[in-house]
Amino acid sequence: MTKKILILPGDGIGPEIVAQAEKVLAYLINERGLDVAIEHGLLGGCAVDAAGVPLPDDTLAKAKDSAAVLLGAVGGPKWESIERALRPERGLLAIRAHLGLFANLRPAVLFPELAAASSLKAEVVSNLDIMIVRELTGGIYFGEPRGIRTLDDGQRQGFNTLVYSESEIERIARIAFDVAGKRQGRVCSVDKANVLEATELWREVVSDVAKGYPDIELQHMYVDNAAMQLVRAPKQFDVILTTNLFGDILSDLASMLTGSIGMLPSASLASDGSGMYEPIHGSAPDIAGQDIANPLATLLSLSMLLRYSLVEVKLADEIEQAVSRVLKEGLRTKDIHSAGMKCVGTNEMGDAVIKALQTK
Ligand code: NAD
Repeated sequence: MTKKILILPGDGIGPEIVAQAEKVLAYLINERGLDVAIEHGLLGGCAVDAAGVPLPDDTLAKAKDSAAVLLGAVGGPKWESIERALRPERGLLAIRAHLGLFANLRPAVLFPELAAASSLKAEVVSNLDIMIVRELTGGIYFGEPRGIRTLDDGQRQGFNTLVYSESEIERIARIAFDVAGKRQGRVCSVDKANVLEATELWREVVSDVAKGYPDIELQHMYVDNAAMQLVRAPKQFDVILTTNLFGDILSDLASMLTGSIGMLPSASLASDGSGMYEPIHGSAPDIAGQDIANPLATLLSLSMLLRYSLVEVKLADEIEQAVSRVLKEGLRTKDIHSAGMKCVGTNEMGDAVIKALQTK
């Protein structure tokens, strides 16, 4: 059956970068036999303007009916001062919650041609390829009780609850082990089991799940050590599995090892394999409409969509190889430009990736 993909360009540079992914999709459909049907929807500020809400019912219905959603980015100064419930980012949080996207996959991959863009020495990060699997709908960000209360002595106290059930840990662990099976076969589970009981349970459950994956090597690491190791010797990691809070911090840290926000994709998966795919950057209003935004994070998000939700692994690999090839050929958008390289615009970069796909 033809699978559906919902495309949500969003705001700012969203439409420009998503247009490049649509060109690649058109090529895959017309010339490579990819069997998908594409629909479009509104999310974020553009939806507020057109429909009065950041996540219109029609968009949510289409998303639920799709195998995967490809998102550009949402938000911008135009909507920063409107009522909080109508802000573009609320639409993003709402669609993630409605689709049950509990697993966030964030690769930190350094293309060798961009080694100079990292803040670390080239030899420490060259060929870096880490996948962070972050639990996205549980843990301390959602735990109850939470709030700010006034104590008997009159001072205020803020409190949150770190809570994880066995089933929540088990399902995210399975995602990490499955992903590792398609990579180097190593999972490092990051916790703070020496201090936090919730992550003591995390460690136990992850160890139990590992018994069902005899080919995957499991290591446990405390989060403080993991942060240190990520900047000391990041290439030791294959898949990092961790909680919502630790993953939030470590995935930003890891992504910056690669030096460029315009290069990094992400996937958020539901239990049925459907998912939402988006670059990690925002809508970059400062450069919107100028044809200078880097579309590669979006094209790599499309590659993840093909790999994880459509299981078109070969086409996913080919997109990654095509991106690598245009970088090898010296093409750079402004954000990753360096001396001796050819500076190209958003459209030209998209066309170059399609050409690399056609002439592989
Ligand atoms: P941002 O990621 O949009 O931009 C940060 C800087 O990186 C800017 O200088 C921008 O020009 C640059 N940049 C980002 N993506 C780029 C690309 N593809 N190519 C070249 N340069 C790129 O973050 P911000 O400025 O803090 O946020 C802008 C808006 O985006 C805000 O409204 C924010 O709420 C929203 N936002 C949305 C998402 C999302 O949709 N998932 C994520 C983060 C921020």
